Amino acid sequence: MKDAEIVSAEHPRVLAMMAHPDDAEIFCGGTLVRLARIGWEAHIATVAAGDCGSMTESPAATAARRAEEARQAAAMIQATYHCLDERDGFVVYDKPTLRKCVDLFRRVAPRLVLTHSADDYMMDHVMTSLLGRAASFLYAAPNVSSLPLAPGSQVPHMYYCDPIEGVDPLGSPVEPTTYVDISAVLEEKARMLACHASQREWLRAHHGTDEYLDAMRRHARMRGRQIDVEAAEAFVQHRGHAYPRNDLLAELFRPTP
Ligand SMILES: [Zn+2]
Repeated sequence: MKDAEIVSAEHPRVLAMMAHPDDAEIFCGGTLVRLARIGWEAHIATVAAGDCGSMTESPAATAARRAEEARQAAAMIQATYHCLDERDGFVVYDKPTLRKCVDLFRRVAPRLVLTHSADDYMMDHVMTSLLGRAASFLYAAPNVSSLPLAPGSQVPHMYYCDPIEGVDPLGSPVEPTTYVDISAVLEEKARMLACHASQREWLRAHHGTDEYLDAMRRHARMRGRQIDVEAAEAFVQHRGHAYPRNDLLAELFRPTP
């Protein structure tokens, strides 16, 4: 079966629910490119604005620059960028933030959600993972938000991206349930990531090499080697009560014989 044959007429939407501008491109950009190529409408959301991502500029100026970079990257796959405008380092699981997340899910009505691993090194990522999990479960309940309920709203397929370096906060490797071959779209993923010039520049100045893109390529190759392809992204599927348990990503991107 070819990828295109699986596209349903219902115009499926994927939401990458991440903490900071550039996280979607780092952790699941290749998968988003592949989904967009088979007709999925992509949405990239960040809970925080990226305001700590500069050594020299003010929080407001940094956030404004990073929002523009995120919009540029999203535009490469005709995706929509959303920012919930929390502060870097202070993403918490509380009522106001969860309400913002539920309302975002109401507007997007995603069939597929990609979010951070709850075993990530960075607490903003961990909190975003919990927020994404809670919002995905709640948003289709009629009374949970005053925003209209879009047709097709339901508990979506949900996957956790790799934590950074594929290890949990204690250094133990995370065992993926699902791999997506991104060999053919690795350079497009790199171009999306390169839109985040503010982050790439200071890492390049600090390391003296293009570490921003090099680290992404190293990780993609490491995951690729595990399934005998050039480059891959790895995920753990959320299969708890009420969530669809069939492996949608594996079904969408099963290699053609
Ligand atoms: Zn991040």
